[in-house]
Amino acid sequence: MANLLLTTRCVRSCPYCFARNEMAQSPQSDTVSWENIIYLADFLVRSGEHHIALLGGEPTLHPHFVDIVLYLLERGFHITVFTSGVMSDERLEDVADHVTRIPPDRIQFVCNLNDPEQTPAPEGELRRVEAFLTALGPWTTPGFNIYRTDFSLDFIFHNITRFGMQGLLRIGLASPISQQENLYIKSEDMKNVIDRLYSYRALFEKLHVKPNLDCGFPLCYFSDEQLGWFFRMSGGANFGCGPAIDIKPNMDVYSCFPLSGIHKRSLFEFDSLQDVAAFYIDLHDRIRQDFPGVFAQCATCTYRHDGRCSGGGVCHLLRDAAHETPNPCMSL
Ligand code: SF4
Ligand code: SF4
Repeated sequence: MANLLLTTRCVRSCPYCFARNEMAQSPQSDTVSWENIIYLADFLVRSGEHHIALLGGEPTLHPHFVDIVLYLLERGFHITVFTSGVMSDERLEDVADHVTRIPPDRIQFVCNLNDPEQTPAPEGELRRVEAFLTALGPWTTPGFNIYRTDFSLDFIFHNITRFGMQGLLRIGLASPISQQENLYIKSEDMKNVIDRLYSYRALFEKLHVKPNLDCGFPLCYFSDEQLGWFFRMSGGANFGCGPAIDIKPNMDVYSCFPLSGIHKRSLFEFDSLQDVAAFYIDLHDRIRQDFPGVFAQCATCTYRHDGRCSGGGVCHLLRDAAHETPNPCMSL
């Protein structure tokens, strides 16, 4: 799947944001043009890809957000929109008016929710998120980024029930940005994170919510009991690391936000999405030749050799390695 940034502008300032530096370097008026949207749609169709994710910044800030969604639906795409849920009344009315006529299996929102107690936000921002969930709860799954080990999920379950959201919780780990300082979950803290997630199992089960782990979780930090539970609830679990294919409004491409500072290319250099993926898979492989995984035992781990665990995220490898070797990725 390709991720298209409709704009690099955002309305929030999350403390764990791994896109902040990339956003700061982009012009304020940075929004994707119709010319590039049509180019990308043709590119994806030619690649046999029919799923596209729209993100930002805040993608609904794009002045033609609804028209872009309608165009991509018309081209046959399934769309996932990653949003904060924070938008003007006019934009929300426009979005709700059109999207509620479309079945949720064609378009789905992932609303990235922050705990109002641990990550306070202005009152007006919380009201806008509530308005969004009131209008589009059934089209929306919650997303949550973990950036501290004492996180709470109670408010998420409350929102799922209150707004009739879909029973899937996308759980991301805040990731380190290459060559930058930011808040993220360190490898040595992941066991605590997994234990805390597992402590919510009664609520996941009671409300029939599937935990959907995002990239970077190390398989060996799960006990057999925990693994069995995650597999039973979700039908599988992800212990991989991308590459995600993130495409900026100007068609620059990189393999996920935390790695946006290195090996950026232009989509115009490639013939298909498979070519882009192959380029970044090769890059990841070459990084892992020198830095196999986040733990010393990853080098000889059978889970890594049979492809069941990536050995943590490349973002972590570059951050950990950077303490010893400045810019390890630049020599590749
Ligand atoms: S590859 Fe590394 S992180 Fe993954 S299970 Fe093996 S030792 Fe753990
Ligand atoms: S480098 Fe891998 S683990 Fe880190 S954010 Fe990107 S895809 Fe996820």
